[in-house]
Amino acid sequence: MKSAATMEKLVSLCKRRGFIFPGSEIYGGLANTWDYGPYGVELKNNVKRAWWKYFVQDREDMVGLDASILMNPRVWEASGHVTSFSDPLMDCKKCKERVRGDKLLEEKLGIEGVAGKSLKQISELIKTHKVPCPKCGACDFTEARSFNLMFKTYQGVIEEDAAMVYLRPETAQGIFVNFKNVQQTTRKRLPFGIGQIGKAFRNEITPGNFTFRTREFEQMEIEYFVREKEWKPRYESWKKDVEHFFEKILKISKERIRWRQHEKDELSHYSKETWDTEYKFPFGWGELSGLAYRTDFDLKQHEKFSGEKMEYLDPETNEKIIPHCIEPSFGLDRTVLVALLEAYDEDEAPTEKGGMESRVVLRFPPNIAPVKAAILPLMKKDPLGPAAREIFETLKKNFAVEYDESGSIGKRYRRHDELGTPFCFTVDFQTVDDKTVTVRDRDTMKQERIKIDEISALLLHYP
Ligand code: ATP
Repeated sequence: MKSAATMEKLVSLCKRRGFIFPGSEIYGGLANTWDYGPYGVELKNNVKRAWWKYFVQDREDMVGLDASILMNPRVWEASGHVTSFSDPLMDCKKCKERVRGDKLLEEKLGIEGVAGKSLKQISELIKTHKVPCPKCGACDFTEARSFNLMFKTYQGVIEEDAAMVYLRPETAQGIFVNFKNVQQTTRKRLPFGIGQIGKAFRNEITPGNFTFRTREFEQMEIEYFVREKEWKPRYESWKKDVEHFFEKILKISKERIRWRQHEKDELSHYSKETWDTEYKFPFGWGELSGLAYRTDFDLKQHEKFSGEKMEYLDPETNEKIIPHCIEPSFGLDRTVLVALLEAYDEDEAPTEKGGMESRVVLRFPPNIAPVKAAILPLMKKDPLGPAAREIFETLKKNFAVEYDESGSIGKRYRRHDELGTPFCFTVDFQTVDDKTVTVRDRDTMKQERIKIDEISALLLHYP
């Protein structure tokens, strides 16, 4: 199935309808920062809720956590981020454009798995293939050098080295350092996992493509602890769960999503096996989530650096072991971007004068739609307004609904199509007589009459 969305159309719709605004706009913006508007925040919260429900709340082997963004800097020494969390930075000698050497190779030469190549190899590949600068076209780059992506800031009043802290580049480490606290307080037995949603920060060399790559973003991560001998079947079962989330809960089309395994030399320093899910964005295939087998690397490192034991007493064998870990990691902003791209569609709708006009419609699955239903009096006049308000007041106790009385009914339908509102309930003169309303389906645009008493059941049917 072909998607009607282009990035240009989506960015414009997001601004026009209050999903996503450019950050600090009145000051001329701050490059690659984005603010979620009234409908964007609802959409994002719904995606978070759907993720949390499926991966944490509905599972007996999962619990949640919300750790701090600022952590003891030793955490990042132990995790390997201080030494290894870097990208190959190159400058065009002619126009001074900064590029990421590995991404340039991937994009221009279609070479996959470049991330694991050495700085020397990347520089050489770029030279031999005469890869041009994306800005000025010259083939004259500096040698690739390592650029650490962690943001630094200072805690306390004096800017001295001792008080330097990092903004976390991933949420995962907050989970590892709390492993014992969580295990001991919940008395969970292996295998069990800890889920967390929160902000992460990376000083990306080449942010861009709307919210796909930004320097501040949100992750939804799980660290799932297992015995070493069972990692493989558990890993396969997580693959199925990740697929279920994307295909059955977010309803992402199968043709636009795929698994890609990391090459041996592409693997992160902590991983023995990694598969990414990639989505076919309008700008090409891009990572949506990662599934890494992190072994016992992180817990062992924290034991070494903190001096605290990270063991688990296995009640089956009475042995103390350091659990191994499987990490499904999702980017929330990328998932929201995919939800928007998947929902975006264009078709034709009838006008009030009997003609046809083109319409933009966001076909969100109802569970993530920012507004579940709009209550619309056909006209502002009494008694339609008060009758519609009464329905709205009742529904809003349980559902995210909107009351909307301004503009023609056709314009209001169009607005709600662009917001992705699955149902519009219209109150007309017949409503006052027989307590029925028309319900208009966003996708088919068909209308039928139902009793006011039936509305809640209908909305509950499409949670
Ligand atoms: P990429 O290769 O695109 O830089 P990554 O492999 O570094 O991503 P991970 O470290 O696996 O990403 O992070 C887990 C998830 O966090 C990714 O799958 C992605 O969805 C999200 N993510 C990572 N970096 C960013 C970013 N700069 N902006 C938005 N989301 C991001």
